[in-house]
Amino acid sequence: MTFDPETAAFLIAGPVRIHPRVLRAMSFSSVNHRGDYFHQRVGEIREMLPMLFGAPGHHAILSGSGTSGLEATYSALLRPEDRVIVLSNGNFGERGDEIARRYSDHVTTLSAPWGHPVPLESLAGELEKGNVRAVVTVHNETSAGFANDLAAIAPLVRRSGALFLVDGISSVAGLPVHLQEWGIDGIVTGSQKGLAAPAGLALVHLSDRAFAEVRPRTHYLDLAAHFKFLEKNDTPWTPAIPLFLALHEALLMLREEGLEARLARTHALAEATRAGVDALGLELFAERRYASNTVSAIKIPGGMDDASVRKVLLNTYNVEVQGGQGEYKGKIFRIGHMGITSWGDLLLCFAGLERILGKAGRGKSPGAALAAIESRMP
Ligand code: PLP
Repeated sequence: MTFDPETAAFLIAGPVRIHPRVLRAMSFSSVNHRGDYFHQRVGEIREMLPMLFGAPGHHAILSGSGTSGLEATYSALLRPEDRVIVLSNGNFGERGDEIARRYSDHVTTLSAPWGHPVPLESLAGELEKGNVRAVVTVHNETSAGFANDLAAIAPLVRRSGALFLVDGISSVAGLPVHLQEWGIDGIVTGSQKGLAAPAGLALVHLSDRAFAEVRPRTHYLDLAAHFKFLEKNDTPWTPAIPLFLALHEALLMLREEGLEARLARTHALAEATRAGVDALGLELFAERRYASNTVSAIKIPGGMDDASVRKVLLNTYNVEVQGGQGEYKGKIFRIGHMGITSWGDLLLCFAGLERILGKAGRGKSPGAALAAIESRMP
């Protein structure tokens, strides 16, 4: 057994590997969250948020996983009488639907099978009925390694006048997100994906229009209070202090690399993963033009057992990848390649996969996957 959680190539679909700089920032001595030191760090975080989101806006940081940000946003902007359209084509689309239904009594869910786009005509048809308060969608469907085409969806939403609310938990700092061009009114991300910080913080960005309409309906997740306090570099309740310090360092690292460079690196790793998948004779779950740059979902070849493959990868190669969710458990596995994932991690993962397939009598030309990946390295 070689699995060692401290050194494993950690390639799940988030949380992702955390850089030692970010880990060290978290192990700082206790600090007073109402004192100058902490306020200064929060101020610097606040100033870096437009860089993260690629646009100025109204920002909140909540102590809670990504879902807390989704719930804070939907609860503040959706009212029981509102007509809301939810696009759902994966596990997180289904979750978004559940959250929206807690806060609006008139939700129409437009579903497509996991990993397939919701037809634009069905969205257009539903919007034409009028009086839609908000369209809610996931940007990057982590469960299916699938990115919804927001550039195509956005003009329909904008024309209708509805608020455009996006779950960007596995897209922000991983995929291009054009908030202004696409007219996104609200987007939420989590600390544990493209940002490569520990799990436990949700970051919310609202447009001026959405900000003006915030009517909080929960106490702990009161967005208005979070906006008001963050403007003073503060938080309404005791924040998850070590996580804020870690987020500060992760944002500094993102700024040093540059958002565009982070996106380009994530894209290159995704292309290399897809090339490795082809070379192994495996198949992506999502149609290639929708394949996500932050997480690849790969079909388990017939006759092979997903759990056993991942177990050998873990225990023999010290590489951790992730299984499928819901009805795709056992049918697909997922490789995350966002945040600070390295080329070495990817090569090790594919070296292991190649050996496992080879031993199962499914090997293709030895070394082809690694050569395909190497050919895409900068
Ligand atoms: N939405 C998407 C697209 C996700 O990938 C995840 C988590 O993987 C979530 C929502 C839920 O986020 P959290 O588990 O941080 O609450």
